[in-house]
Amino acid sequence: MDKLDVVIIGAGPIGIACALEAKKKGLSYLILEKGCLVNSLYNYPVNMKFFSSSELLELDNIPFVSIENKPRRQEALEYYRRVTANSDLNIRLFTQVTNVVKICDKEFEITTNKQTYYALNVIVATGFYDFPNLLNIPGENLPKVSHYYKDPHYYSSSNVVVIGASNSSVDAALECYRKGANVTMIIRGSSIGDTVKYWVKPDIENRIKENSIVAYFDSEVSQITESEITFNQKGETITIANDFVLALTGYHPNFEFLRKIGVQIKDPVTLEPFFDPLTMQTNIDSLYLAGVVCGGINTHKLYIENSRIHAKHIITHIIEEHRYLGC
Ligand SMILES: Cc1cc2nc3c(=O)[nH]c(=O)nc-3n(C[C@H](O)[C@H](O)[C@H](O)COP(=O)(O)OP(=O)(O)OC[C@H]3O[C@@H](n4cnc5c(N)ncnc54)[C@H](O)[C@@H]3O)c2cc1C
Repeated sequence: MDKLDVVIIGAGPIGIACALEAKKKGLSYLILEKGCLVNSLYNYPVNMKFFSSSELLELDNIPFVSIENKPRRQEALEYYRRVTANSDLNIRLFTQVTNVVKICDKEFEITTNKQTYYALNVIVATGFYDFPNLLNIPGENLPKVSHYYKDPHYYSSSNVVVIGASNSSVDAALECYRKGANVTMIIRGSSIGDTVKYWVKPDIENRIKENSIVAYFDSEVSQITESEITFNQKGETITIANDFVLALTGYHPNFEFLRKIGVQIKDPVTLEPFFDPLTMQTNIDSLYLAGVVCGGINTHKLYIENSRIHAKHIITHIIEEHRYLGC
């Protein structure tokens, strides 16, 4: 098979941004995506509304028209699908990259669950949504526990515990409450998160104040059983009846995959991988990182708005270093 100038791993917004930039500069490129197009966004809650306004989610200045200024998931799926289709991007969906190995000074072998590809440069844009931050407590594997929230209808008339106080937890708690669930929030900190959307925060705080949603602050879950959940609050052990647990405690990049392909972890605390912020190149020549995968465990610091720019940094570096000319 011919060598490509660039293989991009992941068809999230940032992988697509890299492909648009590569195409504009006349490079041969291919996106490999393990799921559907913008797989992470596809798996977000069905009713979710972005905190960004639509122009801040645009790629390559292609207009994103939405009904309200902050688009919903469905509109974002449609936008990224149309951008990909209209630009006729070269992409293989449902193709999972399992390894990337440098086989000579200027060439990578990229192994997938389907076939093997060869490229002069590789961009890893694999995001963070596949790996939930686990609680590591008994009962976490029960079928009633989920680290993902999709739709409130399923939980109506049930006792639902939402663990966490971030945007995802707050959205899930409010939606489930409004579809008739009996919602309890168990929150490690002493208040609702500071980063919760400014137009949602008063809503959740008032629902808690009026006891429509019960919240236990300064609390940590210790055990989940078929019919109950147990947590500790300031030294006291409390057990309540429970049908479903939404453990929305965040997600992290696939560190195992990064280590396997040789990317060094720079910071042992944040697990931020090594890369040059001006070029996005890792410790391996011609292997780049793009998007939220760069953030280590601090996934809230990078998002579509502020990591779209990675595409330009990377492709400019590839062109400047003549990394498309091969051996
Ligand atoms: C509920 C929610 C609301 C959000 N709202 C906003 C917002 O308003 N504004 C904003 O800017 N950001 C927002 N974000 C964050 C934003 O969605 C992410 O930062 C963004 O998706 C990152 O894009 P990405 O391309 O880096 O990663 P992703 O979108 O996660 O894409 C990575 C892709 O790589 C694929 N992949 C992973 N491993 C492999 C592999 N081995 N082989 C092949 N493919 C692989 C995945 O399937 C996925 O499609 C929100 C996030 C959440 C969870």
